[in-house]
Amino acid sequence: MVREQEIRAGEVAVEPPPADASVAFIGRIRTPWTSRLMTPRQGRDDGPVCRIEVFFPWTAALAGIEAHERLEVLYWLHESRRDLVLQSPANDGKVRGTFALRSPVRPNPIGTSVVRLLGVENGDTLLVQGLDCLDCTPLLDLKPDRTAFRPIAPPQPGDFETG
Ligand code: SAM
Repeated sequence: MVREQEIRAGEVAVEPPPADASVAFIGRIRTPWTSRLMTPRQGRDDGPVCRIEVFFPWTAALAGIEAHERLEVLYWLHESRRDLVLQSPANDGKVRGTFALRSPVRPNPIGTSVVRLLGVENGDTLLVQGLDCLDCTPLLDLKPDRTAFRPIAPPQPGDFETG
């Protein structure tokens, strides 16, 4: 499963139905890791500096990003299988549902990390700490960290009061 694409004792795979939507890769993430076995399970603020390369024409969408100390990064865990509903992370016969895990093996293998933004280079590359993905993992999206973000649009009736 996650490490070697194997199916472990107790794990259950299904036949995935056809896709309902498509996504566009807007960049790629450069990290020091070329093996899943050597890639951390979750990134850390003091992890190695990684580079997020944003492709043209999406580079224009980076305007103002340097104002945000922390970003949410969404990426496509492209080497994951996508068909397991029950997984055994410890390979001990005990299984849990995919949605009760942060395993990279999921029907839509989207990974998320909150990273520290260290800088922007050449208008198209972000230097960040806090990632946990293989080198050349495709980039799906970037957003300011929601815990620090205040909406810029005027308030609307459905908004919750903030302190
Ligand atoms: N932080 C993300 C999250 O919580 O959504 C990802 C966590 S996932 C447990 C991280 C693991 O996914 C890594 O340790 C590695 O084994 C695996 N992984 C990393 N990049 C991958 C890729 N591009 N394709 C498949 N598996 C990957």
